[in-house]
Amino acid sequence: MSEKNYRYETLAIHAGQIPDPATQARAVPVYRTTAFNFKSAKHGADLFALKESGNIYARLMNPTNDVLEKRLAAIEGGAAALSLSSGTAAIAFAITNILKQGDELVSANNLYGGTYTQFASILPAWGITTKFTKVNDFAAVEEAINEKTRAIYVETIGNPKLDFADIDEYSKIAKKHHLPLIVDSTFTPPGIFKPIEHGANIVIHSLSKWIGGHGAGIGGIVIDAGNFDWTDKKFDLYNKPDGGYHGLRFAHDLGDLNPLAFILRLRTVGLRNVGPTLAPDAAWIFLQGLQSLPLRIERHSQNALKVAQYLESHPKVAWVRYPGLKNDPSYEIANKYIKGGLYGGMVVFGLKGGYDAAVKVVDNISLFSNLANVGDSKSLILHPASTSHSQLSDEEQLSSGLTKDLIRLSIGLENSDDIIEALDEVLI
Ligand SMILES: *Cc1c(COP(=O)(O)O)cnc(C)c1O
Repeated sequence: MSEKNYRYETLAIHAGQIPDPATQARAVPVYRTTAFNFKSAKHGADLFALKESGNIYARLMNPTNDVLEKRLAAIEGGAAALSLSSGTAAIAFAITNILKQGDELVSANNLYGGTYTQFASILPAWGITTKFTKVNDFAAVEEAINEKTRAIYVETIGNPKLDFADIDEYSKIAKKHHLPLIVDSTFTPPGIFKPIEHGANIVIHSLSKWIGGHGAGIGGIVIDAGNFDWTDKKFDLYNKPDGGYHGLRFAHDLGDLNPLAFILRLRTVGLRNVGPTLAPDAAWIFLQGLQSLPLRIERHSQNALKVAQYLESHPKVAWVRYPGLKNDPSYEIANKYIKGGLYGGMVVFGLKGGYDAAVKVVDNISLFSNLANVGDSKSLILHPASTSHSQLSDEEQLSSGLTKDLIRLSIGLENSDDIIEALDEVLI
């Protein structure tokens, strides 16, 4: 049976797995092994030459991770995927699998905090500079692109105001300049939105958030749509003999596998030689989460919409942002992409009492956990101005759209009445 015909809910449970042929184990086993036997000298030689695919050494590949990678590639409509030790590593390794010293990235500026720091302060030391543009300002994107640009980067729903990126428009510009479009879709997990259907070439998820859903591990994944032509000479890493893998020219020497040049290079050059491997135990817990993601994402979204509507009508609340609210600035764009009314689990709002009122809320609220994470089955709350963003100056905070009153909620799977009652007790 071809998995391609299965729908999302079925793929989330079955894709990428055949019961272990040696033991008939039905669940995906955790393959705790460092290396794998070669059947013969020729088998070993063919594996190393990429003439045959198979397991060599568990820094590069593991059958547990392989199920997770195949499953998420199938769900996202991609050709192949690679899991890495965190979402942050997935981003750094995807970028440096395309850009090298002297190259430029054009990125939206409303990024996850850690990604912003990576682009603004870490990649420059590696010779890679990022031009930041306001999300959905397409004139600015065009202006930022020059002969050094090698990729465009955007998050589907960005920080801190949950603005929805107009991915079709980003894709048009990327195609026009023959640049890969890299999309961090962590805030729109499968079930909400599929970036590849709208022209993304590479999709990234932090597995640590909704895909796992349990707040019990860190991991990341890069999914390759397999539809980008890397033979364009401006992509040096694909057209020159690669010292990172026996002098292979990834855009030319892979035969039938050439469409998978990006993801094969990510595995055989980045993962193999720099080593941010996802442990199979972590891959296994993300597989447990993934099975119920289609159900969970519905409940997260339904609960978050109820919370957003409650906040919108509360006299102490100055403003609310949620892409599913009819008068939200993102509602129109979000509805170009979201079918079925699922807008995700994040809600942000501000109180008329400002900073002081926000601090009182996080100090006194019940049920919600006050911490820096999102996507857990538990409801989470954070006041960024006094925590994650407190090291930024007032000007930096404001230019990133972060007001002092902003409270961030990641709405969990509890009964929505209990969630709203917890808020109601402290919004006084
Ligand atoms: C959490 C997150 C990341 C980083 O992922 P980690 O697994 O924590 O390294 C990147 N992007 C977004 C949108 C995130 O929410």
